[in-house]
Amino acid sequence: MSTQHHHIIIIGSGPAGYTAAIYSARANLAPLLIQGSMPGGQLTTTTEVENYPGFVDGILGPDLMQEMENQAKRFGCNIKTALVEAVDLTVKPYKIKTAEETFTTDTIIIATGANPRYLDLPNEKSLIGFGVSTCATCDGAFYREQTIAVVGGGDSACEEALFLTRFAKKVYLIHRRDQLRASKIMQDRVFKNPKIELVWNSAVSELVGEKPAGLKKIILTNTLDQSKSELEISGIFMAIGHVPNSQLFETQLDLDTDGYIITSPDSTKTKIPGVFACGDVRDKVYRQAITAAGSGCMASIEAERYLESL
Ligand code: NAP
Repeated sequence: MSTQHHHIIIIGSGPAGYTAAIYSARANLAPLLIQGSMPGGQLTTTTEVENYPGFVDGILGPDLMQEMENQAKRFGCNIKTALVEAVDLTVKPYKIKTAEETFTTDTIIIATGANPRYLDLPNEKSLIGFGVSTCATCDGAFYREQTIAVVGGGDSACEEALFLTRFAKKVYLIHRRDQLRASKIMQDRVFKNPKIELVWNSAVSELVGEKPAGLKKIILTNTLDQSKSELEISGIFMAIGHVPNSQLFETQLDLDTDGYIITSPDSTKTKIPGVFACGDVRDKVYRQAITAAGSGCMASIEAERYLESL
């Protein structure tokens, strides 16, 4: 086991992590970025990204992340493909441990992201990009004049369903209970929208379809009487919440009730000096690549100022 010391270690390799890496590397701080279990993050699971500024014809999610990695490397960022197993924020310098190595560092930028929650149906993961999505903003435009569904009863599900009515012919909103959890204002909008049909007391029990033709229909199970029904749809959007990847920090940083890392207002500072959090691990409102990248930039600038103050 070797121990290396760094000024900045970035944990995570989505838009927030790579942006923090680009800024820190350009500031000559020789950052180390540890990629985590899914190099490139959530965008590697999407197809075309059409709303990231600068790409007039769109760019594939995995290609965008590869470009970000290349840009970080261009300025000398050291990138390791490893999973962080433990972090010790109780003593300075802070310690980060992977399976192979232990690092010490003056600052840490946490950009570990969040994972959308899935239903855990057998072919769900294999149909991602072929009818199964977790992001209406990313994929809605592929379903023009089609019949699709959103699963969930919270603000995200309502927001996704409303957004999708811009493209789709019809949107079923499937919820496991007979009442939405979403705020009253979102509920009112959903109820008033003629393109949205509520499907109450229903759980999706089967996705029918396969690659590359994609999703054909779903089987629903009524949660009250267990009766089965079918819906012919070409797309289904899971909006049943996200799980922030904050487990490594739960005993050392303040998390909100949903597990998101709490940072100071208008800042990426956590309660521990020199430890910053950016991207989806601290954002349950916007969750966009561009907002994650923006907060990665903030974290890098704040880390640089912290190092200067030492
Ligand atoms: P959420 O409020 O936790 O809602 C998740 C929904 O998914 C719930 O209706 C839940 O059903 C359902 N669900 C969870 N697991 C499920 C499963 N296995 N099968 C079927 N349904 C399942 O999550 P969210 O909507 O992503 O919102 C997260 C937070 O962000 C909330 O605080 C929300 O207010 C906020 N947010 C705000 C806005 C906005 O203000 N514009 C937009 C998006 C999010 P049950 O209701 O039965 O538990």
